[in-house]
Amino acid sequence: MDKFEKSSKLDHVCYDIRGPVMDEANKMIAEGIDILKLNIGNPAPFQFMAPDEIVQDMMMNLRDTEGYSDSKGLFSARKAIMQYCQYKNIPNVDINDIYTGNGVSELITMSMQGLLNPGDEILVPSPDYPLWTASVTLAGGTAVHYMCDEKAEWYPDIEDIRKKVTPRTKGIVVINPNNPTGALYPKEVLNDIVQVAREHGLLLFADEIYDRLVMDGQEHTALGSLAPDLMVLNFNGLSKSHRIAGYRSGWLCLSGDKSKAKGYIEGLNLLSSMRLCANVPAQSIIQTALGGPKKTDEALLPGGRIYEQREYIYNALNDIPGISTVKPKAAFYIFPKIDIEKFNIHDDERFVLDFLKEKHILLTHGGGFHWEKPDHFRIVYLPDLDQLKKACKGLGDFLADYHQA
Ligand code: PLP
Repeated sequence: MDKFEKSSKLDHVCYDIRGPVMDEANKMIAEGIDILKLNIGNPAPFQFMAPDEIVQDMMMNLRDTEGYSDSKGLFSARKAIMQYCQYKNIPNVDINDIYTGNGVSELITMSMQGLLNPGDEILVPSPDYPLWTASVTLAGGTAVHYMCDEKAEWYPDIEDIRKKVTPRTKGIVVINPNNPTGALYPKEVLNDIVQVAREHGLLLFADEIYDRLVMDGQEHTALGSLAPDLMVLNFNGLSKSHRIAGYRSGWLCLSGDKSKAKGYIEGLNLLSSMRLCANVPAQSIIQTALGGPKKTDEALLPGGRIYEQREYIYNALNDIPGISTVKPKAAFYIFPKIDIEKFNIHDDERFVLDFLKEKHILLTHGGGFHWEKPDHFRIVYLPDLDQLKKACKGLGDFLADYHQA
């Protein structure tokens, strides 16, 4: 055995961006093969550019942001985040309840590291954004997956959540709007989840990074706004809404009743100081990003790119024999179902790999999102219409005679 083996904790981490599909894609790229990537939620490569004001303001602030900031973040950034919480009716968020991070990712990991002891359980959705399961696992806890129901617009199955609460359960993760399904949860569903947390004294982890990417005139309800009597960890950031995933700008706000979590908060403060602070130039533009009138991004309105691309992908996928899908209401993901009997599919990763090799188009298999059955895959519909048309034609042609051995 090598002296420097990877940590055995990583053995149980399942992630969408590693494994044989990514290995093959990287090999093909190295050979000069052009691949259409429908696998990663990164707006910038698809000409979704950051607003000019954000870039200008960061340039103006660069000289003043060379040093470390307070470990929780710049006052101006946290004040703007605090006001954003007020706008979203998220109660009881003080400046000291806010931690800025190098994207939401860093804070998700931190929130689990500061909480979990071996054997502790966290309820995580299936399908999930896989960092949640990975973070629970790496922190030594156990991710217990609750089902989201495709037949009910991909809403969380409340009875399943109830069934899976045990004396070791510490909290429930709610990703709304959702990656990978694109679902937006109504208030009633959120209230039901809050009620389960209330009955069992659980923490709520609300990942709301897509809250400003909502279509069809719908409104996003912040989970924290429904739970003033519980402690809620509210996660949000600028990677998606402001198309600056590379700047790394996210935040965590503690809301509601924090009186029973003094030890946990001490741990979060310690972890926050250990990484010194988040990227300071990226914090300097939070005030600009969150200020001003709150109007819907034009890309999400009829005629706008995300809206029109959603319309196209939804219809085009449903037109392919053997594929069916729920219409996403938010974000830029769609999670179609594939008829596994028709194509004899028993391994979804194999399906995505075969498709990549033949058509040079990269999808993510449902298993990458902790979805157990091999009957789903995710498409990121950020590439423009021409590319999406190419992808759907390629998928239709590929499936016309696909049959897994
Ligand atoms: N949460 C969800 C649901 C996501 O989809 C992503 C990124 O795709 C993140 C968190 C992480 O975002 P970031 O670290 O860029 O803020």
